[in-house]
Amino acid sequence: MSSTAPPAARASGDGRREANAASVLRAVLDHGPVARSGIARLSGLSPAAVSRQCTDLARLGLVREVPELVAASGVGRPQIPVDLRTGSSGGPLVAGVHIGVPGSVFGLTDLRGTVVARQEFGHDGIPPAELADHVGPALARFIADNTPDGGRLLGVGAAIGGWVDPETGTVVRHDALGWHQHPLAAELHRRTGLPVRVDNHARAVAQSELLFGRPAARRSLLHLFVGNVVDAALAIAGVVHSGPRSGAGDVAHLPVPDSTVACPCGRTGCLEATVSDTRLTRRAVERGIIPEPLVGLLVDAAAVGDRRADALLRERAHAVGRATGLLLDVLNPDLVVITETSSSIQPEYLDEIRSAAIAHAHVCDDPGRIVVPHAGPPVLLVAAATIVLNPLFKNPLQAAPATRRP
Ligand SMILES: [Zn+2]
Repeated sequence: MSSTAPPAARASGDGRREANAASVLRAVLDHGPVARSGIARLSGLSPAAVSRQCTDLARLGLVREVPELVAASGVGRPQIPVDLRTGSSGGPLVAGVHIGVPGSVFGLTDLRGTVVARQEFGHDGIPPAELADHVGPALARFIADNTPDGGRLLGVGAAIGGWVDPETGTVVRHDALGWHQHPLAAELHRRTGLPVRVDNHARAVAQSELLFGRPAARRSLLHLFVGNVVDAALAIAGVVHSGPRSGAGDVAHLPVPDSTVACPCGRTGCLEATVSDTRLTRRAVERGIIPEPLVGLLVDAAAVGDRRADALLRERAHAVGRATGLLLDVLNPDLVVITETSSSIQPEYLDEIRSAAIAHAHVCDDPGRIVVPHAGPPVLLVAAATIVLNPLFKNPLQAAPATRRP
């Protein structure tokens, strides 16, 4: 992969310089537009070091000066603020893909985690074994159609449920798709020609909360993903935990109190079997509430006054809340982020989750610690992009490439 990084930064192994660049970029992410003096105060670096880093980061196309923000009648030498080079100012973009069960979604996202283009890709009629053969070319077309002329792409982040090994770019196991040891990163790289990073979607959302979300997340964070698959991620002191072979976060078979739903594992009352979109929408179709098993249709039906739809969504929210209460007691995180369709659209379902969680938890009586993702509905695209953006913010001098539009 080619790069515009200055040779000294790449060859010297100068760890301090790289750490300083990361501190400056992070200060600009959190507080930009911000004057160099402000960056020095926030990062604890000398003004000279900040100036040097700003020059390097500007050369890499990651930050820019914003002279239009200088006050016209300022006293003394004006301080020109620095900000990230976002999509609207010609900054680099990241392609993201979330591969779900009924469909995938593609996006282009800038350095601030703002989605600038998106496209849905349904999986209707595509056997799971052939899915990557369809998703890869469609993603490549989306990237080619939506990247501005001369625009820079930093790579592709692919987020997916199940057991994912980011080191090898492999989906170790995804039961709903029937994937085992699936080399997803290699397949998407072959189709797009771009560097590809892969991670579990629950971990990727957790990482996006650390990078772009609420400050409390950086102390400790639990993220619970409730979709067709149900999984979780834990982050402590700003680090997402993966564990041996990246197996952490498998809560699919956590027992839900009072649930008697049969699970494919042979037991009853498992979390995924009880609360997944698959089960929820199957029940809604069986009852004639919605014509197709799509959770969005069920939320829409409830919103226009269908009480049966509302009751099913509340029942699920209640079960999610009970499971959240168990996890709160075990982990006591500062913040619990829940990715679940109804609660991200209608606050009343978040309230249902909160009250069930607080009623069952012993260590938490503050419902405000349970929230929906800061990014709102584009959460999965922001998460997919974060798989590429997080290494960039950790080490901008090494990670920032100059990959042009394919
Ligand atoms: Zn089970």
